[in-house]
Amino acid sequence: MIRRLYKSFRKILPNSLNGQITYWLYRLKIKPTIGKHKSRFEKGIVVISADFEMAWAFRYSKKKKHKAVEMGLMERENVPVLLRIFEKYNIPVTWATVGHLFLNKCEIENGKAHSKMQRPVFFENKNWLFNTGDWYQHDPGSDYKKSPAWYAPDLIDQIQNSPVQHEIGCHTFSHIDMTYKNCTSELAEAEIQECVVVANKRNILLKSMVFPGGTLGNFETLKKFGFTSYRKPDNSYVGIPFKDSSGLLAIPSSLGLDKNNFTWSVKKYVKTFKCYLDAASKNKSVAHFWFHPSMDKWYLENVFPLLMKMVDEYRRQDLIVVKTMDELTEDYNEAFNH
Ligand SMILES: [Zn+2]
Ligand SMILES: [Zn+2]
Repeated sequence: MIRRLYKSFRKILPNSLNGQITYWLYRLKIKPTIGKHKSRFEKGIVVISADFEMAWAFRYSKKKKHKAVEMGLMERENVPVLLRIFEKYNIPVTWATVGHLFLNKCEIENGKAHSKMQRPVFFENKNWLFNTGDWYQHDPGSDYKKSPAWYAPDLIDQIQNSPVQHEIGCHTFSHIDMTYKNCTSELAEAEIQECVVVANKRNILLKSMVFPGGTLGNFETLKKFGFTSYRKPDNSYVGIPFKDSSGLLAIPSSLGLDKNNFTWSVKKYVKTFKCYLDAASKNKSVAHFWFHPSMDKWYLENVFPLLMKMVDEYRRQDLIVVKTMDELTEDYNEAFNH
């Protein structure tokens, strides 16, 4: 009740004042929230995961559907920049990749793209609305050179060829809503199966999942296909991951890395980020950062490199380690399953 009131109260404040309040919540150490479970890790752990999705993520977005291709192209521009930053500081990331991005090309058959694939029925959730036409209606049925917002085999090459040991994870084949409400087990199986097939062609074993738009569900399907972990949406949380009832490791998220609405200075972003690293190292817990590669250009150029530099500095001081979701899952099994 109090929480709800507080949230409504924050909503009516102007952005700049909200920004000040949020900043002070960090300064006063009210944020981030620290999990209560006792750690068995030896050090703080930083995990970074990315929703690698291009135009697929935005085509049914209530706010951004008209910008789907633009967002896809922005992501295409940003990925090489991000990869260079990760190389500079040797930071491995879990790239939760939409399966369709693995394709060099695809075709329209009998008026439909991927005519053999299962489709969701019409649905609406908090962020998306699919209420007309075919689920694959935006698919250009083309190739990555002609329609670079819809395919990304060349970018996956770059991730795989990076000297940094990145992980490729899963973000479904066509960016579906995975909740039990909007996704049957048949659809979940078809989507995950297709991702497994395209990933296997590159000798990639998919183990880590990021549910599109935080649409958690169909855990059994993930388990069946050999997945071991997923990102669990949370807010400013630093703690210990946990095994859910299906045996998958839920890794709570801590902070999304992108420009906020608060008109913060670079310094404010850096200081708040530092709170997460301090909390992770002090409590030997996990700080799980995530980002969309289509992130704001100003943030990517002026803030993001400083954050990664700081991660590297904390690691050099032996205060934290950096792990992919898969590596964290292995560490968790080692530390907690005895
Ligand atoms: Zn296609
Ligand atoms: Zn997504």
